Amino acid sequence: MDKYLNQLNDAQLEPTIQIEGPMIVIAGAGSGKTRVLTYRIAYMMSKGIDPFNILSLTFTNKAAREMKERIATIVGASEAKNLWMGTFHSVFARILRSEADKLGYPSNFTIYDTQDSDRLIASIIKEMSLDKDIYKYKQVRSRISSYKNSLITVRAYFQNPELKEADAMARRPRMGDIYKEYVERCFKAGAMDFDDLLLKTNELLTRFPEVLAKYQNRFKYILVDEYQDTNHSQYLIVRALSDKFQNICVVGDDAQSIYAFRGANINNILNFQKDYDDVKVFRLEQNYRSTKNIVNAANSIIDKNQTKLEKIVWTANDEGEKIKVHRSLTDGDEGRYVASTIFENKMNHQLKNSDFAILYRTNAQSRAIEDALRKRDIKYRIYGGLSFYQRKEIKDVLSYLRLIINPADEEALKRIINFPPRGIGQTTMDKLIVSANGYNRTIFEVMKNIDKTDVKVNSGTKTKLQNFVTLIESFQVLNQTADVFELAEHVTRTSGLIREFNKDGTPEGVTRMENIEELLNGMKDFVEGQKEIADTTGNLAEFLEDVALATDLDADKGDADHVALMTIHLAKGLEFPYVFIVGLEEDLFPSAMSMNTRSELEEERRLFYVALTRAEKQAYLTYALSRYRWGKLIDSEPSRFIEEIDEQYLDIVTPIEERRFNPMLDADIFGDVEDSKVSPNKIRYKPAKKAVLKKGNSKKPQEKFQVTTPKNLKPVAKTDGNTNLFDSKLVVGNIVKHIRFGTGEVLKIEGKGADIKAEINFQHGGVKKLLLRFAKLEVV
Ligand code: ATP
Ligand code: MG
Repeated sequence: MDKYLNQLNDAQLEPTIQIEGPMIVIAGAGSGKTRVLTYRIAYMMSKGIDPFNILSLTFTNKAAREMKERIATIVGASEAKNLWMGTFHSVFARILRSEADKLGYPSNFTIYDTQDSDRLIASIIKEMSLDKDIYKYKQVRSRISSYKNSLITVRAYFQNPELKEADAMARRPRMGDIYKEYVERCFKAGAMDFDDLLLKTNELLTRFPEVLAKYQNRFKYILVDEYQDTNHSQYLIVRALSDKFQNICVVGDDAQSIYAFRGANINNILNFQKDYDDVKVFRLEQNYRSTKNIVNAANSIIDKNQTKLEKIVWTANDEGEKIKVHRSLTDGDEGRYVASTIFENKMNHQLKNSDFAILYRTNAQSRAIEDALRKRDIKYRIYGGLSFYQRKEIKDVLSYLRLIINPADEEALKRIINFPPRGIGQTTMDKLIVSANGYNRTIFEVMKNIDKTDVKVNSGTKTKLQNFVTLIESFQVLNQTADVFELAEHVTRTSGLIREFNKDGTPEGVTRMENIEELLNGMKDFVEGQKEIADTTGNLAEFLEDVALATDLDADKGDADHVALMTIHLAKGLEFPYVFIVGLEEDLFPSAMSMNTRSELEEERRLFYVALTRAEKQAYLTYALSRYRWGKLIDSEPSRFIEEIDEQYLDIVTPIEERRFNPMLDADIFGDVEDSKVSPNKIRYKPAKKAVLKKGNSKKPQEKFQVTTPKNLKPVAKTDGNTNLFDSKLVVGNIVKHIRFGTGEVLKIEGKGADIKAEINFQHGGVKKLLLRFAKLEVV
């Protein structure tokens, strides 16, 4: 047997060497699903299957690159080069380019990113004189996106009165008209948005049987990673392409389905066995990624979901440390805790920054963490924020380049026609847009033939418009011979962009110049890279496509040593030795917007499962008692997900510095705590600035702040850093009030110190076992 197959266990080996027929690998996190796909491709090639016939779809382009590199080490680099591997979007963009004419698109169509789509939608809303507070462009965009991902075309929309009604109910009766206009404008601009890449591929495969046959014959073997997160549109593409040979291998984990909000459909994985004949189902059970504590804790939480496939996940790895749970007063404190813990771990265990990841539910949470990391001089990188290619100055340069390739590109044109300023104002632009819509021509065509149109502008303006056209055309000529680096260098100089940013003189201006330089460097790299692959030349069209579909996860060259900060959604499939999951608070995680139904809550819980299972050695769960949100300090309570983890896997940390103001904290938790009962000798406390300010009643708050004890709770100061300051004297029979579950009767009390738990029968919610240090209980 081939030597590399030794690196798989028996359960992994089976699906790896089974290369014919439909099959699905359903398995929990870290069990080697992605590894099976990688080795399977290597195995197929070693059996003589032409890489040209293998299509492999991954969640990020980075994942594809890593798989390809791994395969190259097994079968050789030149062989691996011909594999078709990438995200749905990147693979099908490539196919659409070569088939674009069939759909009436130019092969050099532009790919609109979300920013372009937003701008176009905002402009349509304005042109239609609609109320922009009702027709919020982002909401409109996401609505259009969901139509497209459900394959609801404009025509289908208007044929379905229910859709119209639903939009009317949402106070947006003109939704369909916006959708129609948006689609037409994109088409006229020779542009596809992200969703079009899937929608148009479906259109291509359905309307043109010969095209379908061509790609069915080409992709005899299809593999899909993270199958649980495919949306309807992606599902149909895979289905169509694999229909002839049925050599389809998908891997996934229903417990990690986290993209329902973008149309992902967990049923795709659940129904796979119904979709194909004689499906072989494989299960992997051994987790190689994480410690026992992490694996077991993750199992205990996902167990709370009702909708799931039963799975076993175990590991032979070490027990490891328990999961550390840490409470802070504020989000700022949370950031400081994370930063100092990273700092200490690095010192104590000789670790690199890249051994750590900080995961959060929403991007907005990164700021407090960043501040703390900077203070500690810990290098970090944020993934998934504004990507490099979406920065203003970069988009300005790219817009020139896009216009060279595709002068119909309306968003690119609007962006740069008067940047750097050329005296072409908004009034002129409005006239051009109206005229272009009237003639059903592009704006560029109208500008070029201005004398033959009805556009009324003075001769000065006319000259300016013509000069712009001439400028772009001169770039087009250069593009025939120059590579993308040479072209961009010329464009940035000749267009006046460099001069414009240079004269700025502010620090921002300097950063912008540096970014442009970085872009040019990237282009140089790209040109060199393409030349090495030999079959391509590194031309502009290829570059733009690369850029349009790049996420900044892809751009990570893995060279610099930094702590990774990202949302949990982005972390799917990745792994890190140390993982912090921050902001574990009700209304934040689970998100306030996802608590209305059980299925929403279950998706949040899956998200938490994904987060926890990224950790190899150690996981930290942190939450703050108050946090700045929307500019206000908001009280929060710990996430239910902490309570849901079997507590034998948890280590609850209360740091020394926090104990100092514990009376206040615990007053928060237990309700009224009487001042007189707190022994001033035993408890020294320092007021926490923000938390006190929220009480808002004094400049010297520590004197005014009331520390009181409820009837049945006596504070006892402890010295152990891991225990609570209060020992509970809560007794069986007490009636208590919980912020979420309402009133209930105490049935049982168990445990000691920090681990005291009460079993309470709540009027709403039934019997619950609560850890007193978390539960906000009030004796009534
Ligand atoms: P996820 O659900 O998070 O995507 P996965 O099921 O795809 O996880 P992999 O990423 O393939 O899991 O594997 C998890 C880790 O375990 C990787 O570091 C992988 O290299 C390692 N691993 C998997 N199988 C084995 C094995 N048989 N021997 C050694 N290491 C393994
Ligand atoms: Mg994986």
